[in-house]
Amino acid sequence: MTRRVTIFGATGSIGQNTLDLIARDPEAYDVVALTGGANVSQLAEDAKRFRADIAVTAHEEQLPILREALAGTSVEAAAGAGALIEAADRPADWIMSAIVGSAGLAPGFAALRHGTTLALANKESLVAAGPLLMAEARKQNATILPVDSEHSAVFQALVGEDPACIERVIITASGGAFRDWPLENLAYASPEQAACHPNWAMGQRITVDSASMFNKSLELIETKEYFGLDPDRIEVLVHPESLVHALVGFRDGALMAHMGAPDMRHAIGYALHWPERRDLPVERLDLARIASLSFRAPDPERWPALGLAREVMRIGGLAGAAFNAAKEKALDAFLERRLAFTGMAEIVGEVLERMSTEEGLSSARFDLDNVFQMDHLARVRAGEAIEKRQ
Ligand code: NDP
Repeated sequence: MTRRVTIFGATGSIGQNTLDLIARDPEAYDVVALTGGANVSQLAEDAKRFRADIAVTAHEEQLPILREALAGTSVEAAAGAGALIEAADRPADWIMSAIVGSAGLAPGFAALRHGTTLALANKESLVAAGPLLMAEARKQNATILPVDSEHSAVFQALVGEDPACIERVIITASGGAFRDWPLENLAYASPEQAACHPNWAMGQRITVDSASMFNKSLELIETKEYFGLDPDRIEVLVHPESLVHALVGFRDGALMAHMGAPDMRHAIGYALHWPERRDLPVERLDLARIASLSFRAPDPERWPALGLAREVMRIGGLAGAAFNAAKEKALDAFLERRLAFTGMAEIVGEVLERMSTEEGLSSARFDLDNVFQMDHLARVRAGEAIEKRQ
C-alpha cells in the first residue's frame, strides 16, 4: 500500500534528505504536497519529479514563477501562509515538518488537527508552543515523531522502557565551528566561519546555531517538552566526534547510548519507517577504526545560550516563544553583519529579561494567539536592542 506523504520545507536540508529516502522506493509513496520558500526552481523540479499533487511556496510574489515552472504538468501551484495551511489540510499519512524557524509552527499545528503522524524536525515549534502541540497531538490521537538526531536517539533508547525509570537524559553537542577557538576571538567570528560545521551538513541557520549552541539550547527545551522531563534531569555533553547522539540514564544506573554516523537520513528514516526498522543508506560505524570517543562538560562562558535555555525553562509559559523569536532576529542580524557573534546571546538575554518583567511571560495566557503575539513582540524588542548598539 502506498503512503501519502507531505513535506514542509522540502527544498531545505532535511526536506532534501527526506526526498532522497523517498526516491529510493518511489512506488511506496504518494507525494501529496511539497512546500518551500525562496528556492522555487528546486521546489518545481522536485514537485515534477515526485509527481506531487501540489507545490506551495511561502512567498506570494514567487507564485507566477512557480506557476510557469509547473505549466503543462498536473502539479497545482499555490503560495502564501494560507496555502501552507491548506497543504496541511490535505489528507496525508505522514507529514514532515522541516520549515526552519517559528514559521513552521502554524503548518505543523494544522497537520496535527487531522490526526496525522507528524515527523517533527522543526524544533522551534516545540520551543515556542510545546505544551500546545503535545496537547493537540493527544487530543487528535496523532503521533509526533522526533527527527532531531538527539531526540530520535532518546526516543529509540526508550523503546520498551518505562518512562518512570528515566533518571536523566544526556544530549550531545559537537561544539560547532568555534569549539576550540580562543574565547577572545569569538567576538570577531564571521558568518562564513560560523557556518562551517565540523561533522554535520545542515542548513545555514542551524549550523550557525550549532556554533553558538543556540541549537543545543533549543534542543534542551525540546527535550523537556517532548519527553515531559524535569529540566534538572537533562544534561548537555560536548562530544566532538558526533557519533553518540544521546544517552538515557535509568534508575538502576544503566546508561543507554545511541550511536550512528552523523547523517540525518538515519533519524529521518527512523521516523519514516517507524515503528519498523528498514535498511538505510547510512555509513556503518567501524568502532575499531574510530578507536576512541571523547566527552567534556560545556563551558558556560563560551556558550551562554545554554544558561539562557535553563532560564527559559525556569520561567516557563511564553518564555520559549520570546526566546526563539529573539534568537531568530539576533541570528538574522549576525548573518547580515550587523551584530557580533557574541552579541547574539547578549541580545537574547536582554530581551528575555525585559519581557519577563514587562510581559509576564510565565503568567500570560498560554494559547496559540499569544504565542504568535509574543513571537512578534520579541522580534520588535530584539530589533530595538540591536539598533541601540549601532
Ligand atoms: P534549511 O534552511 O536547509 O531549509 C529550511 C526550509 O524551510 C526550506 O525548505 C526553506 O525554503 C523553508 N523556509 C524558509 N523560510 C520559510 C518561511 N518563512 N516559510 C515557509 N518555509 C520557509 O533548514 P534545515 O533543513 O537545516 O532545517 C529545517 C528544520 O529542521 C529546522 O527547524 C532545523 O532546526 C531542524 N533540524 C535540521 C537538521 C539538519 O540537519 N539540517 C537537524 C535537526 C533539526 P527555501 O530554501 O526554498 O527558501
